[in-house]
Formats: sequence, structure tokens, C-alpha cells
Amino acid sequence: MSVICYCAIVSWIFLESSVLLTQVFFKISFYGILWGCTHVLCGSPTIPTLKALSNVLHPSNQNLTPTQKIWQRWHFKLGHIAYSHIQKLALGGFLDRVSMGLLRTKIADHPKCAACQFGKQTRLPDETTTTVKCEDHLGSLKEGQLKPGDRVFCDQLESRVCGRLLHTSGREPDKDRFCGATIFVDATSGYIHVEFQVTMNATDSINALDSFERSSLHMGVSVNSYHTDNGIFKSKRFVHEIMKNSQSIRYSGVGSKWQNGVSEGAISIIASRARTLMIHAALNWPEVEDASLWPLAVSHAVQLYNHTPNSSSGIAPIEVFTRTTSDCQFLRNCHPWGCPAYVLQPRLTSEGGKLPKWQPRSRRGQFVGYSPVHAESVSLIRNLTTGYVSPQHHIIFDDWCETVYSTHESPPSQWNDMCVFQ
Ligand SMILES: [Zn+2]
Repeated sequence: MSVICYCAIVSWIFLESSVLLTQVFFKISFYGILWGCTHVLCGSPTIPTLKALSNVLHPSNQNLTPTQKIWQRWHFKLGHIAYSHIQKLALGGFLDRVSMGLLRTKIADHPKCAACQFGKQTRLPDETTTTVKCEDHLGSLKEGQLKPGDRVFCDQLESRVCGRLLHTSGREPDKDRFCGATIFVDATSGYIHVEFQVTMNATDSINALDSFERSSLHMGVSVNSYHTDNGIFKSKRFVHEIMKNSQSIRYSGVGSKWQNGVSEGAISIIASRARTLMIHAALNWPEVEDASLWPLAVSHAVQLYNHTPNSSSGIAPIEVFTRTTSDCQFLRNCHPWGCPAYVLQPRLTSEGGKLPKWQPRSRRGQFVGYSPVHAESVSLIRNLTTGYVSPQHHIIFDDWCETVYSTHESPPSQWNDMCVFQ
């Protein structure tokens, strides 16, 4: 009997240990398979860490010097303007004290920007043809225009990608979306104003004209004459509107677009900068890219252009247009377009407001520019859930996209020919 008991105990111990061994074996196999899957999926022999979330401006990036990183930061903030322009602004004291370090740098040492390469690259010169501009004719289109409003150049740009409206959730049909814009450029100051249009017909163009004149009057400028291309600006209703306001209008000759070169140049600059802003945002935060946001990018590019002092005179277009001086606080406070922004939950914005203890205190949105009808401290934030764009004040900006993930694997493709110039 005792032998039978002994055998039963031994066999039970054996069974238990074999079950234990099987479990251990399965656990090892499971973790092994998981480890293998992780490596196959990630395609990397190392375990992904938070470093994958850092961008080129992170202190761990040794390819850029600290001064180059300062340079690059201003380049992102100021809408991808030329590095030489940033250096001049820094030396002129328009930026912060840290940027004065750019005094010791050579222009040849400027860093490269991926968004600028994708958004602004042009053909290289063939090194056999040289173009020399005639000094006598330089600036002749603006000659004699001594006061803001004396002459305003006007032209239209069209976009194949329809732009979302600013007061909706961005889900309206294409026929109700912006298909282009009218650009007004003041000859004296270089001040640019843009009005977006759902159609390019005479009614919408007249509405754009009215809106520009109202905004100019608020700044103390009345417009005396316009210079435009032919097309919709020659329509009976448009001309009647101009005559009603006792203004004059001149046109470029057919096939001689250079006579309206001021507005053609402005469209080229603004479209190029807006495209680069959107590409920069898409490269750093591809998850929320949306080409229909182009009206917001164009507005931001125009606002930055008007507030940036000229590289030779040191005076910003808006200073000349409004006959006032600016302290450039707008430039120092601005943020890269399209960066993540953390907005305080509405309940906490009022004094004494409370939220349940374990609820998030903020939501993540996207910064899409500044509101023209609010203070400079109020930013337009796109709600990524509802799609609405709202003016917000209690925001923390993630300027360098350190809290979102980007792979930099493929460049955005859909903006190659977004804008068509008329
Ligand atoms: Zn750039």
C-alpha cells in the first residue's frame, strides 16, 4: 500500500513539475514571439525609445551647432524666410538676446531646412546665361506713389485644392469652399491684403474689394487708384463700383503681365511661403495634415510678411501703411504654423472651475495662425475632433513638435501644383 502511495506522490510531483515546465516553456515562447514581432514590425534591432519623438532641434542632435539651432528656430517661427534676413533681424535687435549670437556666424554656415527644399526649390542656373536687371527701370511700377493708398496692385490666385471655410467644421461640399483669393498690394509700403473667395465672379470680387477698403479705412488709408489685370476686373459691375467710389483703375496690356508685376511677385512669395508652412507641418505632424487648410496658411504667411521688417530698410510694410512704428513683439511671440497646441479645458478657464480629478486638464489642437479681430495673444486653434477653428487664449505651444510622432519617410505629395497664378 505504501509503495502505491509513494508511486502516486512521485507521479503527482512529476505531473506538477511538467505542467510548470510547460507553462515556463510557453511563457518563454510567447515572449520570444512577441520580441520577434516587435523587431520585425519596427524594423530596428533596438527597442524604440522616447528619442524617436525628438526632432532635429533636440539637444541630442549633434549635426547642428547650438547657434544653428537658434537660427533654425527663428526660421521656423518667422515663416521660413531667408537665413540672411533672420541674421539681419537678429543684428538689428528685432529678435531676442540669444539670437544676437548670430553675429558671429557666417551666412554660409546656415542650416538646411527640409520644408524649404520641398516647398521652394527651383531649377539650378545653367551657368552660361546671366540676367542683368536694368537699374533705370527697377521699381518703375511703383514710381511716384508716395502715400499709402495712392496705387494698389490687385490680382487673383486660384487653387485646385478647395480651401475650407473658417467658420465651419470644414466638412462643407467643394462648391461652398474657397477656390481662390484676391490679393491687394499697396505700391508705397508693400503691404499685402488677401481676401478669399468661394467663386471668382464679379460679386465676390466686389465684396473682396469692399472688405479691403473697409480694413484700409480702419488703418487710416483711403485708396485712390488700382492697377489690375484684365478679366473679371474689366466687368461692368466691377468698373461701376470703382467709379462710384471716385477711384481710378488702370489695366495691364494683354500678354504683358509684368505691368502688374508687383502683385504677381506678392502672389509668388505668399504662395511659396504658405506651401512651405504646410509642408513643414505635414513633415513634423503627418497624422493631422490637411491640404484644405491652405487659406489659414496663406493668411498666416501674409500676416508674417506684413510684420517682418524689410532686410534693407528695417521697416515693416505695416509700419509704412499705418504710419506707425512697431516694437516687433508680434515676431517674437509667434509660433511655427501647424504645431501642436494644448488648450485648457473650457471648464477650467473660468475662475473656480473644476474637473473630475483624473480627467485630462487640456486637449490637443493645432495652431493655425492668429485671429485678425482679436488681441495678438489670441491664437486660432483647430479642434482635431470637431474640425472647428476657434480663438483661444489659455494655450501651451509645442513649437518643435516634440510631443507628436513623425517618421520623415515620404514627402507630402499633394501640394506640388496647388496654386495656379492668373
Ligand atoms: Zn524652411
